Amino acid sequence: MLNSQQSWQLALTNAVTNVQELCDILNLDSHPLQNQWIHHSAFSLRVPRSFVARMEKGNPSDPLLMQVLPLTQELELSPHYCQDPLQEKQSNPVPGLLHKYYGRVLLIAASGCAIHCRYCFRRNFPYEDNSPGLSGWRPALDYIAKDSTISEVILSGGDPLILKDNYLAHLIEQLASIPHLKILRIHTRLPIVLPERITDSLITALTASRLQPVVVTHCNHPRELDRHVEQALKALRQANITLLNQFVLLRGINDNPDTLITLCQQLFFNGVLPYYLNLLDPVQGTEHFAVSTEEGQQLIQSIRARLPGYLVPKLVREVPGETSKVKKD
Ligand SMILES: *Cc1c(COP(=O)(O)O)cnc(C)c1O
Ligand code: SF4
Repeated sequence: MLNSQQSWQLALTNAVTNVQELCDILNLDSHPLQNQWIHHSAFSLRVPRSFVARMEKGNPSDPLLMQVLPLTQELELSPHYCQDPLQEKQSNPVPGLLHKYYGRVLLIAASGCAIHCRYCFRRNFPYEDNSPGLSGWRPALDYIAKDSTISEVILSGGDPLILKDNYLAHLIEQLASIPHLKILRIHTRLPIVLPERITDSLITALTASRLQPVVVTHCNHPRELDRHVEQALKALRQANITLLNQFVLLRGINDNPDTLITLCQQLFFNGVLPYYLNLLDPVQGTEHFAVSTEEGQQLIQSIRARLPGYLVPKLVREVPGETSKVKKD
């Protein structure tokens, strides 16, 4: 019998990283797809098996598959797309910390992810300069301690929940010793893509300090929510963790009202409120996923006509130099 820590780590290690294997599992005829794949890339295929199990067999346009399959479209250069569209280097005062907005800072707590989402805006982020080991957090902690306007710290990445429980617990303890910090926010896709990660000992690590915990999940399509994910979300909710979901508006994946409405409703049935619907950041290699602002606005209008106000996400885009995410609806 594995203990739960070993079981999620095993699931993380055993992720599918080979396109041919993915096609075999999904009964996909790899032949017609073959000249569209990228076989070798710095940001290669990575997808946990429990996420693959939620994909529809035999469907090359499955919305979950489309989020992870590396296609040659990524190699096309788009004129208004770049490597660092958010100009994050300008808000990176000490290693591992981004300070863009009043009152909150974001820590790049981990460099890796359990899944490689093809549209990811951090695919070109210089993680190697921003991944301090546990002892390397001193400059970031000092930075936060010196600025009493900061009341919220966001653990992001990469995915902060790929860190082990004792590492997280130690980091959170150090954060909690800074008196003006009140809220601990975790931005993570793991409750959705690797629900095994939500163990009792993780929940203890997240809730043991005096900081008020908020978990912002990242779920783009209702089919990502299966029984295991629902159990993981329930466990978080029962520990009094506030749950929000941010998602990305993606061409061919969730760019229609029915999918978005079902997703918002299903999230709510699992105690998660829709937070941000992000318009894609213009990072090189992702233009084939982009949905225009106008289309996004139309989608929000049709959602708003059918859902209670509290289930309508805010349509936002990140614009460098602005004092918050910019609302577009
Ligand atoms: C998105 C982001 C935040 C969080 O913004 P909220 O509007 O509070 O969700 C904070 N810091 C950075 C650097 C961000 O990119
Ligand atoms: S989990 Fe988040 S940070 Fe990681 S690849 Fe996906 S979108 Fe990017």
